[in-house]
Amino acid sequence: MNSSPPWEKLWHSATIACMNEGGAPYGLIENGALAVNNGEIAWVGHVSELPGPPKELASEVRDERGRCLTPGLIDCHTHLVYAGNRAREFEMRLEGASYEEIALEGGGILSTVRATRAAGEEELYRESLPRLQSLLAEGVTTVEIKSGYGLEVETECRMLKVARRFGQELPVSVATSFLGAHALPEEYLGRSDDYIDLVCGEMIEEVVRQGLVDAVDAFCEGIGFSSAQTERVFQAARRQGLRVKLHAEQLSDLKGAKLAAEYEALSADHLEYIAEDGVRAMAESGTVANLLPGAFYFLRETRLPPLELFRVCGVPVALATDCNPGSSPAESLLLMLSMACTLFRMTPEETLAGVTRNAAMALGYEDRGVLENGRRADFVVWNIRHPAELSYRIGFNPCRTVVQEGNIVRDQCSPVHIN
Ligand SMILES: [Zn+2]
Repeated sequence: MNSSPPWEKLWHSATIACMNEGGAPYGLIENGALAVNNGEIAWVGHVSELPGPPKELASEVRDERGRCLTPGLIDCHTHLVYAGNRAREFEMRLEGASYEEIALEGGGILSTVRATRAAGEEELYRESLPRLQSLLAEGVTTVEIKSGYGLEVETECRMLKVARRFGQELPVSVATSFLGAHALPEEYLGRSDDYIDLVCGEMIEEVVRQGLVDAVDAFCEGIGFSSAQTERVFQAARRQGLRVKLHAEQLSDLKGAKLAAEYEALSADHLEYIAEDGVRAMAESGTVANLLPGAFYFLRETRLPPLELFRVCGVPVALATDCNPGSSPAESLLLMLSMACTLFRMTPEETLAGVTRNAAMALGYEDRGVLENGRRADFVVWNIRHPAELSYRIGFNPCRTVVQEGNIVRDQCSPVHIN
């Protein structure tokens, strides 16, 4: 009787969406229990199968009375570190201003580049922090953050340093992507190949030397970089031993996804204009299709990503906010679930897989995204009864408890409405 309980913490009487494949929808366990030890999931299953009465099994025991428990959410595509914002540009466009007028007023992506270059590390940290906090308040436990508003060595490093600091100072895992090939800086106008030389040389070498980068991304598009230039970036990444991902087929089909698949990319992102050859190549290479409904909505796009083709070919689909000042000023991952259902006709189960299991895959993480023994204990308790409520309700944040690596990092953050 004096022996200490086997587990540190135990949640029970919860509806657990394990999100593992092949079983019940959502991998759902009704009246489930989940135990945590040393930052990992030590046990998950039906309450009836627990090896004893819950209160004898852990030092801290929580009765969730039917509340829903899911893996911690993963936002696998953001540009949330930047300075300034483009609300005025948004306003001007809606007042009827032309692109030329907006450019004359200093708008567009290069205005974000100017503001970000001008901001010191502390300012960049302070301006970006509220965006990250919005995500965390909705149960995000892992976030990807890209560079790409510096477009020169020093500012690209500074952006990635801020992203790394977030991972050290806040209860969230941060995966960083180097996106030097995001846009052409003003000083390289008409010399895009010279700029790619810089990206593939000094710039990537410096971000790698400082240990600031987990993957390499690029923007392959008419208004971004050609597929030949993208391939040079991929080759540079390969020389550094880094995985790649790609902004591809957002506005046209440049066969970027196919190229990404050739380089065994973790993900290809956007993909509204992808053709069947691209989808098949992604299926073959295990590249995740990362869909970004916030950008689709904000740019009032009408061409839908080919969901049915992804399903038929077995391409895993992830979802993300694409949080950025120009095309997706979105700071709510839950809203993306709703948009993906309404705009893309994804099912609620697909959307939740898109921000858990498949989002983990899009970042190359094998230790999270699914609730099973031995995985990282990153999960969320929600004030809802069924996981479909997460994508069904709009503008509602039922996040109650967030656990990151076994630690309770947020608790009772919205009032309890469970009867
Ligand atoms: Zn993006």
